[in-house]
Amino acid sequence: MRLVILGSTGSIGRQTLDVVRDTLASRQMHITVLALTAHSNIDLLQKQIEEFHPASVCVTDEEQAEILKKRDPPCEVLSGETGIIQVAGLAEADTLLSAIVGIAGLKPAVAFIKSKKSKKSEKSNKSEKSGKTLALANKETLVTAGALVTRLAEERNVKVLPVDSEHSAIFQCLDGINSPRRIYLTASGGPFLTWSKDQIKHATLEAALKHPNWNMGKKITIDSATMMNKGLEIIEAMWLFGLKTDKIKVLIHPQSVIHSMVEYDDGAIIAQLGTPDMRLPIQYALTYPKRIFTPYERLDFMKYKSLSFEEPDYDKFPALRLALKAAEVGGLLPAVMNGANEEAVKAFINKEIPFTQIAGLIEHVMRSYYLIRAEMGGEKFDYTIDDVLQADAWARKEVMKF
Ligand code: NDP
Ligand code: MG
Repeated sequence: MRLVILGSTGSIGRQTLDVVRDTLASRQMHITVLALTAHSNIDLLQKQIEEFHPASVCVTDEEQAEILKKRDPPCEVLSGETGIIQVAGLAEADTLLSAIVGIAGLKPAVAFIKSKKSKKSEKSNKSEKSGKTLALANKETLVTAGALVTRLAEERNVKVLPVDSEHSAIFQCLDGINSPRRIYLTASGGPFLTWSKDQIKHATLEAALKHPNWNMGKKITIDSATMMNKGLEIIEAMWLFGLKTDKIKVLIHPQSVIHSMVEYDDGAIIAQLGTPDMRLPIQYALTYPKRIFTPYERLDFMKYKSLSFEEPDYDKFPALRLALKAAEVGGLLPAVMNGANEEAVKAFINKEIPFTQIAGLIEHVMRSYYLIRAEMGGEKFDYTIDDVLQADAWARKEVMKF
């Protein structure tokens, strides 16, 4: 496999390199790391260059890219948006794992889907009928532009494989023959599951960053606290599996042992279980359809007294309700919601707004957008990447007005 990792310095990026290291050590599969990208963490990127010897790297922050170039690392150093698009579009790559956070992942994902395949990678991939593989952790790509990305991928014969644990679980439970009656998207409920609405009003950044089961980047950790993460995952699931919202049921399951489930017409429910360890879905996206040995901790049922389930509380977690609305309306509304969420989360992380204002601001922006759209004659469904980026920029500006 000739692999490019976007966002290799982040939580998913680092765990992807753990998987690559362990896979190489066990000699179960050969992986060549062609290129890595970071936004600002050049010290870690430099260590990754020394260990994995990529031919190219890209640092999207121009200043940090200049500093890295001066250190004269043994690879090509690209920078900015043009650099990351170039790296994502490398003809020699057969697999791209996108672990960038936010809508910044959209253009590179599209560049990968549109990229040509080199003769070399065609040869090394002879057994596979399909073309390239996009292993997608960056859920914002599908949330903001799912219709466009999935259509393009189909046209270009690019497989889009989920890395998100719930979606990987569903992907593993689908049998490829029967369409599901519904899917159960499990959710831990985040750090505020047992808090009252009043307590949540006073939630601090430190409390919101303490996720009970997963150790992730800051943005997705806050998304888990508001439950917007599950909302984004509803939209992600719609595009990955071609389902409408009425077939997607969110189920609170605080232990995060069942990663998600699929129910069929005959009443059978197939679930995928495992430890809460992202290296498992990352590895499956890289080795699919094969399963290879991992040295990681295995699920020990005796450690769990019980597995429990609850309905989500839409009143306590209004972001989930807003995401459901965006999912139902479709068009550019999910991109507007996502842009507002990214900006509001940033403001919360910078301690500029209280926790509950995240959902408050998103709702305000979605309502304003809805009114403007109504005046323009309704939602736009046949959108381009530029439409999505404009909707995103507009939503961010609306948030910043506050
Ligand atoms: P992190 O914040 O830990 O990492 C983000 C990565 O993206 C870093 O490498 C960062 O670079 C880079 N980056 C940040 N901003 C930009 C930008 N503007 N342009 C290009 N690169 C950028 O995030 P996570 O790893 O937690 O999450 C990544 C994605 O995976 C998200 O979409 C998230 O929803 C999804 N995901 C994450 C899970 C997890 O367990 N962490 C689980 C399921 C999905 P640098 O650090 O160098 O600044
Ligand atoms: Mg998830």
